[in-house]
Amino acid sequence: MKTKQFKAESVRLLDLMINSIYTNREIFLRELISNASDAIDKIYYKALTDDNVTFDKDKYFIRLKADKDARTLTVSDTGIGMTYEELEENLGTIAKSGSHDLKTTIEEAEEHDIIGQFGVGFYASFMVAKKVIVESKAYGSDQAYRWSSEGSSGFTIEPCDKKEVGTDIILFLKDNSEDENFDEFLEPYRLQALVTHYSNYIGYPIKMEMEKSRAKEGTEKEPEFETYTEDTILNSMVPLWRKNKNELNEEDYHNFYQEKHFGFDTPLLYTHLSVEGLMSYRAILFVPSQPSYDFYSKDYEKGLALYANGVLIMEKCEELLPDYFAFVKGVVDSEDLSLNISRETIQHNRQLRMIGNRIEQKISEELQNLLKNDRKKYETFYKAFGRQLKFSVYNDYGMHKDKLQDFLLFHSAKNEKLISFKEYIETMQEDQENIYYATGDTIDFIDQLPQVSIVKNKGYDILYLTEEVDEFVFKVIGEYEGKSFKSVSDEASDETEEKVSEEDQKLLDAMKDHLGDAVVKVKTTKQLKDDLVYLSTVGDISIDMEKTLNAMPIPQDIKANKVLEINANHRVFNKLKEAYTEEDQSDFKLYTEVLYNQARIISGLPIEDPLKFTANLTKLMEK
Ligand code: ADP
Repeated sequence: MKTKQFKAESVRLLDLMINSIYTNREIFLRELISNASDAIDKIYYKALTDDNVTFDKDKYFIRLKADKDARTLTVSDTGIGMTYEELEENLGTIAKSGSHDLKTTIEEAEEHDIIGQFGVGFYASFMVAKKVIVESKAYGSDQAYRWSSEGSSGFTIEPCDKKEVGTDIILFLKDNSEDENFDEFLEPYRLQALVTHYSNYIGYPIKMEMEKSRAKEGTEKEPEFETYTEDTILNSMVPLWRKNKNELNEEDYHNFYQEKHFGFDTPLLYTHLSVEGLMSYRAILFVPSQPSYDFYSKDYEKGLALYANGVLIMEKCEELLPDYFAFVKGVVDSEDLSLNISRETIQHNRQLRMIGNRIEQKISEELQNLLKNDRKKYETFYKAFGRQLKFSVYNDYGMHKDKLQDFLLFHSAKNEKLISFKEYIETMQEDQENIYYATGDTIDFIDQLPQVSIVKNKGYDILYLTEEVDEFVFKVIGEYEGKSFKSVSDEASDETEEKVSEEDQKLLDAMKDHLGDAVVKVKTTKQLKDDLVYLSTVGDISIDMEKTLNAMPIPQDIKANKVLEINANHRVFNKLKEAYTEEDQSDFKLYTEVLYNQARIISGLPIEDPLKFTANLTKLMEK
């Protein structure tokens, strides 16, 4: 039999598991049980919707079996099973997550990190087992197969005998050592405790033979005890959402989040909904504390798990979540939904829209509360998902801006922390008509812009925009409570419209002529202190927007209308004047070009002709 190799990333992950000193390695059981439950979900749904499959509720269960002599723990399920190809594909690679990100994460991450962030699914078995055998018979196939591996050296697959459809996972526990003891995973009471802790709300019975003791018949008066075994269901099976909120605590919800594979972080908030009426349903919703590795990629699929009266009918029902809340995870269960709901009819399904609207409203309320009552937590949320909200304001031509604008925060120059538009307005000066903003890559950079000090000196607060999408968001929102947004550059150039002598005006016009289309105007300013030049703009397109638009996959050749502003109080301005009056204007042209390019550098724009620019600098040095 040929040994097959694991994919490269899987090998690294496996090695990590095998050598794991992760203290929570007991979570391997949760991972295997969740997989088993998913597999049963799939076949259960088939049975319920396909007339050719007989439906017998008792047929669906998970079983644990510990064999102390062989030191094996077996997790069996009556789920959909895996074909030869599925065994090879699903267990030979890290399922779906074999992505770039995961690869680098494995390389960089500490063990705790990776287990915490991604969970590790099936591979977690190797934290406790030196050898793993998977025997599986897929639904609809006659032949069963045995997958077997002793770790990163590879795996084998061969035919085997197995009567029923489903999967048995047999873990050969690692040998005990001085520091580590794996026997706990053979103790029925320990296993029972793990199931209650991690997998209590799995919807199918998790069974195990338990040894119990009872008084022998006829010895009730002076009891003599005997032991017997009894098939016991270890989990409560009542799904969490059917429980009464008052009976549950935070830990229950957090465990449920993990059990459902919503994420491996601790959720930032959860909420439990129970609605009675025209449409009755229950829902549990979570806001994660960090985006999943693929959240900001096009592969990310939003949606909530949808159950019809306890049966999973769709893992990700996207109709239940608006795009702007795509990060929300959770489940919805309704008695009023039919099992045979299909994607096509679902789209127009009034029932789902009703539920979706209520869910949207609920999430919105929860986030508002968080913003009001727990700022620190809200900022964690904003750090994770603020970008999503901003893109959503910008998308669909700003259709959702009214719903979302109060969730946005930006760095305030005065407060030196994130504030909302509302907070900006509240502390505005009486005479102030605009909400001022400035753009740049970092807060420190913006802080040093000449335009920023001009507006700061007037006592106005400024919002600092450091993400590319920010300025587009501002354009889309347009105004907030009657106050319009104004860039500090515009404000600065409004103020710097100064009377200049006829002579100076001639000089400025000559500079503009020399620079051609690069600028729409050259003018002096007295607002600058030590700085010599900067670029302001007129019109709708700012310099940062120009940068963003030109960096798009299909660059749009859009230019901001730039105004070169020169500090008229600076010594250099006098030199410029001298050069202008000279017969030979080559120095004047040289200075003009250098000044313009300096202004570009300050704005973070590339130098258009670096060779010429450095040649110009050289000429200056030679003087
Ligand atoms: P994940 O569960 O995150 O997809 P795993 O590594 O745990 O990742 O599992 C990989 C895949 O193997 C699963 O997506 C599923 O298709 C398959 N699988 C695992 N366990 C079982 C099982 N008990 N029955 C059927 N398929 C399974």
